[in-house]
Formats: sequence, structure tokens, C-alpha cells
Amino acid sequence: MKIALIAHDAKKPEMARIATAYQEILAHHELFATGHTGQVVTDATGLPVHRFNSGPLGGDQQVGALVSENQMDLIIFLRDPLTAQPHEPDVNALLRLADVYDVPIATNAGTAEVLLRGLARGLLAFRQIVHGDESRHE
Ligand code: PGA
Repeated sequence: MKIALIAHDAKKPEMARIATAYQEILAHHELFATGHTGQVVTDATGLPVHRFNSGPLGGDQQVGALVSENQMDLIIFLRDPLTAQPHEPDVNALLRLADVYDVPIATNAGTAEVLLRGLARGLLAFRQIVHGDESRHE
């Protein structure tokens, strides 16, 4: 499965904690991240992460592009709900695309834990079926 990791600055320590706690699970999957988040995850876990641009420089949109190709299976997007972001439109666009393509997305640590545990139990197997679905390309 392909997993995208994004954390706003105030949430990066939390992302590092989650990545470390679920390192064994994440290690079985292909990891993608916005620029600085990817660095944080790699520093914390040593796991290989494909790093896109930083979020404000288009990284969220790069993740969104993969979502629109049905190439992203799970997104952990730890948003900072207390700080205005210069790339708020990109954030909203990514959330919208996740809903368009039925991609499980966690926007806080609590949901992230549930999704990662679910992933380990095979509950995201439906994503394999979605990969074969070309009906969205109209
Ligand atoms: P960053 O981007 O991982 O490069 O900090 C995340 C964001 O702010 O969307």
C-alpha cells in the first residue's frame, strides 16, 4: 500500500511519535511525504520515504495528484487546527480528493492510530480492488 504522511509544523513531533510507534507496520508499505515531514519521519525511523515538495510549495498537490490516479491508499495528514496556513486551499483540495477517491485519511493522531492498526489487520484490502477501477477516468 502507498501511504502519504503530512504534518504541519506544530504536529511534526506527533508525526515522529506515530511513525516510531508504528514503524513495524509502516516498514511493510511504500511511504510518501511532503518535504519536511518526510525528513522528520526518516530521522525518527530510518525508513525510506519518497519526499515531495514542502507543503506550501506544492507538496500537498503532489500527493493529491497520486490520489487522483488512485495511487494513494492511506493518508495521515496531521493538520494544525490552530494556525492559519498559507496553502489552505491546497489542504482543502487534498481532503476533497481523498473523499472523491475513498482514500482513508486521518487528520489527527487518534484516527491515525486506528487506521494504522486497521492496515495491519488487513482492513484496507478494499484498496486493492480500487486499483483496478478505471471508471473514475472519465
Ligand atoms: P512539510 O509540509 O512537510 O514540508 O512541512 C507540510 C505542510 O505544511 O503541508
